[in-house]
Amino acid sequence: MNIILLGPPGAGKGTQAARLVSQRGMRQLSTGDMLRAAVAAQTPIGIEAKAIMDRGELVSDEIVSALIDAELLAMGEGTGAIFDGYPRTSEQVGQLDAILARHDRQLDRVIELEVDEDELVRRIVGRFSCANCGAGYHDEFQQPTTAGVCDKCGSSEFKRRKDDNEETVRTRMAEYRAKTAPILPSYEARGLVTRVDGMAPIEEVSAAIERALVTV
Ligand code: ADP
Ligand code: ADP
Ligand code: ZN
Repeated sequence: MNIILLGPPGAGKGTQAARLVSQRGMRQLSTGDMLRAAVAAQTPIGIEAKAIMDRGELVSDEIVSALIDAELLAMGEGTGAIFDGYPRTSEQVGQLDAILARHDRQLDRVIELEVDEDELVRRIVGRFSCANCGAGYHDEFQQPTTAGVCDKCGSSEFKRRKDDNEETVRTRMAEYRAKTAPILPSYEARGLVTRVDGMAPIEEVSAAIERALVTV
């Protein structure tokens, strides 16, 4: 099974992708995570992408599609893919169709997470993650069970994203409205979209996604 998690920054895509990975053995393909790894490793792609990401604008379609293609190539054929934060433009939609065809995969469902804009800012400004294993947390909504200790790996080091500040978030949302929201009608025309209320608690969002996937 291959699915897309679509939604504005902070909607809960990464949180839900991580749950699908542990519950269904699928693989998360997050272009944001891949780009941050490239920035940290100072690869040519990372050097090019860094300033664009810091401003909250979109990195080029060719770069992100090449990253996705390479990840699928490295993945076993039997493992399902969760596209998290990709595609984000109509060009990327076309590129993903071509990539999936080349890898003999089909797109089974597009889950759209719907969340109010004010809530998104609150989620992003409070977001942090484990510096060791990447597990995601939130200051108010998803704290570690023991304060200061990662539930998953026991590490006590956490980090925050440089682009998770209010100004950059506004640019990222404007990019979402202008370039990403317009891709939904093409997936709707293909009968692939399920809308999920992303304002609900994390467990309820997971349950709604599970219901959408049993029919696939
Ligand atoms: P969020 O989880 O907040 O939606 P991401 O981690 O997906 O953010 O993306 C962080 C940044 O990486 C984006 O603001 C953008 O600069 C870049 N990026 C990630 N995915 C894409 C993509 N598919 N196309 C273009 N740029 C991307
Ligand atoms: P995205 O990948 O779409 O940018 P994340 O999954 O990183 O979003 O979620 C953004 C922040 O909101 C994280 O700190 C996460 O812990 C928190 N969060 C995710 N889903 C929910 C939810 N349903 N209710 C409350 N907080 C949530
Ligand atoms: Zn951890």
